Amino acid sequence: MNKQARHVVVIGAGMAGMGAAVNLAAQGIQVTLLDAAAQTGGRARSVAIEFGSQVHQLDNGQHIMLGAYRETLKLLASVGVQEKDAFLRVPLSLDVRAGKQTAFKLNAPSCLPAPLNQLIGFLCCQGLHWSERVAVIKFMLRLKNSHYQIADDAPLANFLHINQQSSNVTTMLWEPLCLAALNTPINIASSRIFLNVLRDTFNSKKADSDFLLPKLDLSQLFSQPIARYLNANNAKVLHNKRVKSITPNANGYSVSTKEESFEASHVIVAMSPVRLRNVIGDLPKLSNLAEQTDSYDYQPIYTIYLQYPRNTTLSAPMLGLTGGLSQWVFDRGILCKQHGLMAVIISAEGKHQDITQEELALKVAQELKAAFPQLDKPLWHKVIAEKRATFSCNVNLPRPAHITPYPHLYLAGDYTYADYPATIEGAVRSGINAANYIINP
Ligand SMILES: Cc1cc2nc3c(=O)[nH]c(=O)nc-3n(C[C@H](O)[C@H](O)[C@H](O)COP(=O)(O)OP(=O)(O)OC[C@H]3O[C@@H](n4cnc5c(N)ncnc54)[C@H](O)[C@@H]3O)c2cc1C
Repeated sequence: MNKQARHVVVIGAGMAGMGAAVNLAAQGIQVTLLDAAAQTGGRARSVAIEFGSQVHQLDNGQHIMLGAYRETLKLLASVGVQEKDAFLRVPLSLDVRAGKQTAFKLNAPSCLPAPLNQLIGFLCCQGLHWSERVAVIKFMLRLKNSHYQIADDAPLANFLHINQQSSNVTTMLWEPLCLAALNTPINIASSRIFLNVLRDTFNSKKADSDFLLPKLDLSQLFSQPIARYLNANNAKVLHNKRVKSITPNANGYSVSTKEESFEASHVIVAMSPVRLRNVIGDLPKLSNLAEQTDSYDYQPIYTIYLQYPRNTTLSAPMLGLTGGLSQWVFDRGILCKQHGLMAVIISAEGKHQDITQEELALKVAQELKAAFPQLDKPLWHKVIAEKRATFSCNVNLPRPAHITPYPHLYLAGDYTYADYPATIEGAVRSGINAANYIINP
């Protein structure tokens, strides 16, 4: 079938579906992108919150990207987003506070090449005993020599213990990284997937370990430029289209919502695993897949927005917090000119789920005040709880392939990119992989 004769329906306009659609449209292939929601972006979207007469544009969760997010950066460049306008690029550094004290501080000197910058960074970091710093360096060297591969997956906490990482190193360094990258408690998180993240962050170019902190809200960053690109390239982006079924027919597939059907030669199902069964449940050859994804566990991410007077600012755009519920705080004034607005992140399950959102906001405000005594009382707050933010990246979690037993029917979505935890980059790569099966059959 030549390219002009192909018509692809992509179900789900999250990062995976949008990544697939852009790549198909760039090849002149006809695409219709359907999403159940009133906006695109899926789990990476902005949210308008009204307080009195004012509307505040927040994100459903503060997102962090890495220099290693190669395909995401390429995707953004292809739809006209310049990195310098979109992100603040921060070289590898961590500054974690326990109350007013510095609990851990790592600065990898940006004047040195990798991995020397990491070596010096770990050697000179604050908050670890000398012997612990040496243990971290030895561990990183061992991982490098083994190409970041392990024979058997194991819970990360056990793996770190076997590799002589003390509880202090784990608390200060590895656990925060595991929560940020895998959004999964360290006692159940997959060591194999964590090592894949370390490999892609630390093993190649120095810029891979940079943090990329969005300067735009997530819709300005992703959905809007991607929708503009798709509209300009003959693709259709349709909202409020909740797909109910996919039916094979002589020409391919009929993709149906309650009200209408879309005919397609090829289909990419780019939904989160949570709702997959609703759409593929009637396809008998996908019953194993539905069972597999039904068995997934999910982890929450809470973002607590606290608005302080506009002149309030922190010493850095991103700071770590330990010893309480709060894990990271982002100064949205430094990042996206939302002056005085702080976004506090709490990843994965924990005690914060046992209290009300009002109590949580109050507790987080107290923790911020303890760490940064210059802060006044917040003027308003908003808690956004994404209860099933990501799949729980557990040991040996089964991950389905992009190809299905049905011809021309592919899967995309963060859970299908087997190398990575649930991330923007995993989602984008999955979409590109699925699109490539159609572009180069
Ligand atoms: C609060 C939060 C913080 C995060 N922080 C980070 C971070 O810092 N860094 C990072 O890399 N990743 C982060 N992630 C993870 C990242 O956002 C996700 O991995 C990624 O966005 C998943 O994209 P996706 O396309 O696979 O799935 P989704 O974004 O879930 O997209 C699926 C789409 O399918 C649509 N859909 C569902 N059912 C139907 C149907 N029946 N018909 C049509 N459409 C349907 C949905 O509306 C949705 O738009 C975070 C996630 C959350 C929630």
